[in-house]
Amino acid sequence: MEDPEVTEALVIAIDGPSGSGKSTVSKAVARQLGLAYLDTGAMYRVAAVWLERHGALDRPELMPGLIDTMPLELSLDPDDQFFRLEGEDISALIRSTTVSTYVSKVSTCLGARAVLVARQQAVVAAEQQPGGWSGGRGIVAEGRDITTVVAPEAAVRVLLTASERARLARRALEVHGAADAAALAATADQVVRRDRDDSTVAQFMEAPAGVTVVDSSALTIEQTVQAVLDLVPG
Ligand code: C5P
Repeated sequence: MEDPEVTEALVIAIDGPSGSGKSTVSKAVARQLGLAYLDTGAMYRVAAVWLERHGALDRPELMPGLIDTMPLELSLDPDDQFFRLEGEDISALIRSTTVSTYVSKVSTCLGARAVLVARQQAVVAAEQQPGGWSGGRGIVAEGRDITTVVAPEAAVRVLLTASERARLARRALEVHGAADAAALAATADQVVRRDRDDSTVAQFMEAPAGVTVVDSSALTIEQTVQAVLDLVPG
């Protein structure tokens, strides 16, 4: 007989463009439900650093092999995120403007994506087993292709959107500490150009069937988190 205490693992997939509030919202949802948290964008960023260090950022033919052997250690704890490459903590480095500028070289290489997707799927699978970080409770995974490619079977699938204006203002505040005209202009490349490049390989501007759109433009973080929590099956 099935143990009534054992509940099925929950997988929550959240996609969205930059500045949509994905990371903040995904972490909060994971925290509230006791789930692991996987930031797949950070994996693309670590891969970009790794490839840059191997002089392979413009050598797509070398990318899959190098990423396959990338010595990455990542945290699934929403309250203590870190990313180590060969033991070096590069959590701050991967958020730099330099890395943001070249990360699309990795994400637009289909061979690189295939290897990263396989690694991400292994993490999602492990979190549905008792031995995982969450003890088998499940995971919130966020990125650009989670609802469609990495975890299309997730019980909750969300496309988190926000108007371009709202997204630019959030990133400007985050990166420059201001949302005045100069800060908005400086952020435009990071948000608008990157989303345009990214959307050539991952479809995340419109929701496919079965994916719920949550528009955060006029919502607070708490309201956005609640909108996602409301989608969790009873
Ligand atoms: O979310 P974040 O801005 O950290 O993502 C960094 C980059 O990683 C994105 O600009 C995109 O190119 C890539 N990415 C992706 N697929 C994902 C997550 C991120 O292509 N699932």
